[in-house]
Formats: sequence, structure tokens, C-alpha cells
Amino acid sequence: MRSYVWHPNTQMSEWDSFQKIVSGDGMWLQDSTGHRMLDAVSSMWCNVWGHSESELINALNSQARTLPHSSLFNITHTPAESLAECLVGICPGMEHVFYTDDGSTAMESAFKMAVQYWKNQGCPKHMLASLSNGYHGDTVGAMSAGYSDAFFGAYYSMVPQSIRIPTPNHGVDDWNDTLNHISETLESNQDIAALVMESGAQTAGGVVIYPDAFQDSVSQICHKHDTLLVVDEVATGLGRLSHMAEYAALQSRPDIAVYSKMLTAGYMPLAATLATDKVYDAFLGDYSESLHLFHGHTFSGNPLGAAVAHRNLELYEERQLLQHVRRISDVFADGLKMISDAPRVLDVRYKGLLAGIDVDITHNAQSANYTIYQIGRKNDIYLRTLGDTILVVPPLAISGDELSQIITGVLNTILAL
Ligand SMILES: *Cc1c(COP(=O)(O)O)cnc(C)c1O
Repeated sequence: MRSYVWHPNTQMSEWDSFQKIVSGDGMWLQDSTGHRMLDAVSSMWCNVWGHSESELINALNSQARTLPHSSLFNITHTPAESLAECLVGICPGMEHVFYTDDGSTAMESAFKMAVQYWKNQGCPKHMLASLSNGYHGDTVGAMSAGYSDAFFGAYYSMVPQSIRIPTPNHGVDDWNDTLNHISETLESNQDIAALVMESGAQTAGGVVIYPDAFQDSVSQICHKHDTLLVVDEVATGLGRLSHMAEYAALQSRPDIAVYSKMLTAGYMPLAATLATDKVYDAFLGDYSESLHLFHGHTFSGNPLGAAVAHRNLELYEERQLLQHVRRISDVFADGLKMISDAPRVLDVRYKGLLAGIDVDITHNAQSANYTIYQIGRKNDIYLRTLGDTILVVPPLAISGDELSQIITGVLNTILAL
């Protein structure tokens, strides 16, 4: 199709047209023909309260009337200050917040912090180590740590090399082997500034959930070898796996932690890279020493994003959202167990309100994503796949009834494959 809009990660020739979403009503998206779909992927993993939460709309409106944009260069503002204080309260060990616009740039900020941390101490280390099958965003630096040939093969020549530690199905048999590889790599290579990993689960890699003690063990190995640990909580933090700071629930002690997707509940683009005192203090000194972080975006800490994020996190507390997530995760798990018995379902993995369902769709000429979106739509749910994995990522505040409708919709979609 000829289209002015070039859609992300989309084979444009596969689509005759795109349904136009005209409004959001609670957990539902409505298109221009009046058809409604339940948002089973939280509009790319972001949505928390549904699409018409008046508390968030009010927070946005009142901030827009007071100060829609001002910067953090030489000056500050209350939304950025309040949100930082709130995030530091939520994230044990973290004491400082650096703002960017999206998950990729927040990860790149983390990488620059990690590398410069060592430079500032007079013992430069240049490399990042990361886990195979991990994903950290689509920009060039983020592709480096989250490299996947299937996604990024075209850009291989421009991507800085990072050290990829093998994970199960990507070079080793089990997670203990991965731990051994991490130990050996950190032992033998003194040039590694940080180990980078998604927290709790690998998401874009097809929903791969770490075994219970894995992240804690990685954290201990990093501490033993004096390597910084960067955890990417962009998709898995802020309640997706039922804790605010997933790394803390997993007993790991990162030096840097990154948040974005649910930070504003999907109402504005915003991301935050959090750092410990240890990291932050390495950037202090006389101006002439050039120790400060040479990074900043035009919209860093934009007041609209910060105000809506702060209100969002207040609502988590006021409405005891995590208790709801834990309760409803049981309903979700029961539904997923039922789905695992359906024909064409190869494997189902889940934790909290995150699930990946591998389906056999090899008989189909069109991409799995196209096919499943179209059938999902007929079943009144909005779905997106990664490879042959259907992702189910409902908004955290979804009701039991609507969650059951999503489960039924996914099951009927699979039965129609
Ligand atoms: C989405 C995602 C990113 C990248 O965030 P963008 O906002 O798309 O740039 C990074 N890491 C993880 C784990 C993600 O899910």
C-alpha cells in the first residue's frame, strides 16, 4: 500500500490498509467503523489504567495549563523533582534519576554512565556484556547490547560489538551454564564496564522467564568481579511481574535500573535511568575535569510526562494496584493453562500479567503477526506477535471479566488458525 505514514516494524506491502483507532474507552480501542477491540497488549506494553483515566487526563491538563515544557538544563521544575523523589522511594538502592524520552535512549544513557563511570575513576573499561536473546531497544547503542540477527542483521556493520553471553536455546543448555559463562567472561576480561540484562524475564526475545535465583546469582557474580550491573525494567518493572522494582523482589542489587513503558501509564513518552550514589558520585568533581555526564535530550524530564507519571505512581499506591495484579494473575494463569491444551499451541510461558504463547503457524503464507492481528480483531481483541509467539500483556488494572474476555479471545483466535 502507498501510505504517508511509515509504520514501525511493518512490512508495508503486506497491509492493504490500517484500521484507524479513533478513541479509547477504558480497556477498549474503537476504530472508525465503530468496531471495538480489547487492548490485550496495553498499546505496546504501556497502558495501566485503560485509555480514559480521568485522574491522568486531569494531571496532564493541569500541567499543560501551568508549564507544558521547560528544560532541566540550568533550571528545574516540580514535576521532575517530585517524580524523581517518588521513583527513588520505589527503587531500593537507587538515589538519582536521569530522564530521557523512551526505553532505547534510557538504555543508551545507562551504557554511557557505565562506561564513563570507569573512565572517571582512571581505569577505563570499554565493553558491555549482555545476555543472548535479550532486547534493549532499536537505536544503535541499544541494538549493540540487545543484538539479534533476526531483528538487526541489516545494521550489523554499524552496531558496536558487545560480548553476548549464551542463554538456553542460544548456545547453552541451561541457566547454570549461563552463570558459568558470566563468571568466566568477567574473570577473563577486565575491559567489561557493565553487564546488561532485562529484569525478571526477557520480553522481546519471546517471553523467557528466568529461574528463581538466576538474577540474584548474576548480581553476586557482578559484585564479585567489580562489574556494574544494569537492569532493564522497561517492560517488566512497575508491576508487570507484580512488583514495582522487579530487581529488588529478585534480590539483585543493580547499579543502574531503567524504566519507561508503564511509567506514564501510556499517556506520554518518558523514561528514567536510575543510579546509585556509587555511580553518581563518580561524576562529581571540578568542571575542568570533564567528569560530568555528557548526555541530555531536548525533552529530558518534560513536565507533562513527569506530571502524569507522578500521578500514575500515586494511583498505584492509592488503589493498591499491585494487590490487584497479584489477585488477577491467578485468573490469568488459569486461563493460560487452558490455552496450553489448545491445538497448535507449542508452549506457554507466563509470570504476573505477562504471557508468551508459541503457536505453530507454519502452514500460513502471511506473517504470524498479520494473521493473528486479523483473527484477533474478529474476536474483539488487539494482538501483536513476536515471531510465532503471541504476546498477552493486559493493562494492569484490567477487571477479572475483561481478562476472561481476553483469554477467550486469544483461545478463539488460536482455534481459528
Ligand atoms: C520496549 C523496550 C525497550 C525500548 O524502549 P523504546 O521505548 O521502544 O525505545 C528496551 N528494553 C525493553 C526490555 C523493552 O521492552
